[in-house]
Amino acid sequence: MTDVDVVIVGGGPNGLMLACELLLAGLDPVLLERLPERSREPKANGLVGQVVQLLDHRDLCGATDPRPVPFYMFGGLPLDLRELDPNPLYVLPVPQRELEAALEERALSLGARIRRGHSVRELTQDADGVSLQVSGPDGEYELRARYAVGCDGGRSTVRKAAGIGFPGVSGAESTSRSANVLLPLEPDGSLEVPGHGRLAPFTFHRLDNGVFIHAAFRPDVHLVTTIEWGPEPEDEVPMTLAEMGESVRRVLGAHVPMNPVPDMDTPPLLRRLTGHNTRQADRYREGRVLLAGDAAHVHAGVGGPGLNLGMQDVVNLGWKLAATVRGWAPEGLLDTYHRERYPLGERVMMHSQVQGLLLSPGSEVTALRTLFGELLGKHSTVRHVADLMSGAEIRYEMGGPAHELLGRWAPALKLDTDRGSVRLPELMRGARPLLVDLNGSLGEIAAPWRDRVDVVGARCAGQDASVLVRPDGYVCWAGTTEEGLREALTRWFGQPGGC
Ligand SMILES: Cc1cc2nc3c(=O)[nH]c(=O)nc-3n(C[C@H](O)[C@H](O)[C@H](O)COP(=O)(O)OP(=O)(O)OC[C@H]3O[C@@H](n4cnc5c(N)ncnc54)[C@H](O)[C@@H]3O)c2cc1C
Repeated sequence: MTDVDVVIVGGGPNGLMLACELLLAGLDPVLLERLPERSREPKANGLVGQVVQLLDHRDLCGATDPRPVPFYMFGGLPLDLRELDPNPLYVLPVPQRELEAALEERALSLGARIRRGHSVRELTQDADGVSLQVSGPDGEYELRARYAVGCDGGRSTVRKAAGIGFPGVSGAESTSRSANVLLPLEPDGSLEVPGHGRLAPFTFHRLDNGVFIHAAFRPDVHLVTTIEWGPEPEDEVPMTLAEMGESVRRVLGAHVPMNPVPDMDTPPLLRRLTGHNTRQADRYREGRVLLAGDAAHVHAGVGGPGLNLGMQDVVNLGWKLAATVRGWAPEGLLDTYHRERYPLGERVMMHSQVQGLLLSPGSEVTALRTLFGELLGKHSTVRHVADLMSGAEIRYEMGGPAHELLGRWAPALKLDTDRGSVRLPELMRGARPLLVDLNGSLGEIAAPWRDRVDVVGARCAGQDASVLVRPDGYVCWAGTTEEGLREALTRWFGQPGGC
């Protein structure tokens, strides 16, 4: 006997997003979150990569019809994206607090059962389910579920209890300090520093003694960050504005006036992070326990890859887990979660390590940056790096007849239907499989799957292939005839009428 089909452990962005996906797929999960209320700790300043298009698919955070950015950075080196067509680097400057608030609101509107102040202490599993020992406001209790998903962050209790290894590297060579302050910025947003001239905002300034960054995510609040390499500071000593000022002075060799921010609506950021971890769960599934987000991988944050990776994990997992619970999943569907997502975790660990290295001190690194900078002047290298950072390089193994769209993120086609024009992302709101029939005769083939696959007949300028799109936004069949469509429907969405 189980109390619930799925328990999600952790109500950060990935746990909340997973709750939304499962609810959209018709499940009624329970989400257990240790904190009594949403964290006010400032984390991500924005989302980078395909996750922005994913939010467009789910109509979240105002990500409608997003546009890519013309410039970005790789390891602090400029990345000029203006010549890329298509340019895959989308950026949404939404703070993590707001993202979590939007996700929680969405989850609650879908009927989510979110238990705050409930911490999972221990977990065991057997052939039929998972037993979780939970400590809640009214004491300890046991919850039994068919599946449990650990979205409980880098120190994941779920991962440890399930006996899943977390190999990788940890080091303590660098210390990053950040603070919200008020800086005497120039009208163009730059900062005049004696001996350095005007330092541009949103730029990694790599100097002999470390890295300096300043940015105004809001006009009245400035973010200052330094990264220094050297002896580890005392972590127990609370960080102060004076310590931030000293660090800036060491890195720039000059004093920068920094004033406290008056009347902030959230506690001003004052943070010191020492060391780095690059680690990945050795498997994302152990029996009835699955991992997603930071519970499955941790890495340096240069370039903001964390949520692009984690939120695509949970959207990949959500529909597969729901199909498994509801009984229509084809054999092995749930195992494609690890198979598809694990290699992408490896890619992010690789490029975040490279970016961290490119920011570190030393003449060899300077030489490497010179070469890298030259390579980034080449169109093909910019394409490679932008696809890597955004996740546009993803091409899942789908089987079936070859097509350039197969396994790729579905393009945001502008479709002309009998009910008017619509963008493909607008048809993905319900997180259901979608067949866009440009052929006019495919609906009949898909008819037996109507309970779980939406079919939209349409015309589309400049596109002749019909596409079958999975709920996570990836094309699992594309073609101008019906060849392979029935097999793709069966491969991904099971036998018709099998619920
Ligand atoms: C300073 C900083 C800046 C960042 N900037 C960016 C950025 O700009 N862009 C970007 O994409 N990413 C960024 N990241 C990374 C991003 O914040 C993480 O990838 C993201 O928070 C991971 O979400 P998650 O839901 O997997 O885990 P978390 O956000 O860690 O959430 C885990 C949740 O699980 C709960 N929990 C833990 N244990 C238990 C338990 N036993 N029982 C119940 N609940 C439990 C915790 O309370 C927490 O709420 C940044 C991270 C940091 C630290």
